[in-house]
Parts: sequence; C-alpha cells; structure tokens
Amino acid sequence: MQCPKCKSDDAVKLSVVHAAGLSDIQTRSRSHGWALGDGGLLLGFGNSTSSGTTQTQLSKLAAPPHKKRCRHVILAWLIGLVMAGPLIDAFNAYAVNPDATLRGQLQTFAYIFSALVALVLAALWSFNHLIVPRRRDLWNRSFMCRRCGEIFQQSVANQGR
Ligand SMILES: [Zn+2]
Repeated sequence: MQCPKCKSDDAVKLSVVHAAGLSDIQTRSRSHGWALGDGGLLLGFGNSTSSGTTQTQLSKLAAPPHKKRCRHVILAWLIGLVMAGPLIDAFNAYAVNPDATLRGQLQTFAYIFSALVALVLAALWSFNHLIVPRRRDLWNRSFMCRRCGEIFQQSVANQGR
C-alpha cells in the first residue's frame, strides 16, 4: 500500500499495528481496571477490559472500534434501584410528614430511573449494531504509514484525496 501523503510504500494494516503493540505485561494494569473508558458511560462503568494487558500508544491509536458493554449499565441500574430505598428513607427522616409520600416517591424514582436506563440501553444497542460494524469495516480497510504516521483507507487512497 502506498501512503497518500508521503508516497512511501511502508504502510501496514491497522490490525497489524494493533496486534504488534499489545503486550501481556501484568504490572500496573490493575490500577487502570476501573479507569474511565473513552466516553465512559455511567460513573466509569464504561471500560474495565484493560486489566491484564498494556498497550503502546501507537497500538491504542490503531485499536479496533469496541462494542459498548450493556451489562455495566444493567449493573448500575440494579445498584441505583437498591440504593434508592435507603436514600429516600434518609431524606424522609427530615421531612415534616414522613410516611405520606415515601412509597410514591420511591415508585416514581424507580419508573423514571428505569426509563432512563432503557433509553441508554437502546442507544447502546443501536451503537453496537449500527455504528460499530461500519467502523470495524472501515478499520479493516485502514492502513497506517510507518514513515509519517498517516492513517488512510484502501479505497480513499486510490482516489487521492
Ligand atoms: Zn506516509
């Protein structure tokens, strides 16, 4: 493949760059386990897959598009529902009329919260099924120039943008 920028022939597939930069170094991977992922969703539940492997910066740049994990959202939803009870209890302890609105508030919260989570799940689903395959396809056709670092696609390169 010829680089469209510097016309060098030293271009490799992004997947090769990615695989070459992955290493199984165990040190300091734990601390990154719960770090906020790219666009990490819901209190940093977005990305916990980095434990066990470390990546070079170049390899990260060449990483394939990842599907967003739904199970973290569901986990956050369950925690939220469990936490809601005690939270509202504590709130009502200071209220003037404690036992009047307790149940109703909890129910309203549960409905709104669940609707919100359903919305997030729907967004995740469409992202995973509509956007990720397209990006992955693009990624599979992408090359990186080893001389100037230009990332380009097979089809685009032939048109000379
Ligand atoms: Zn180049």
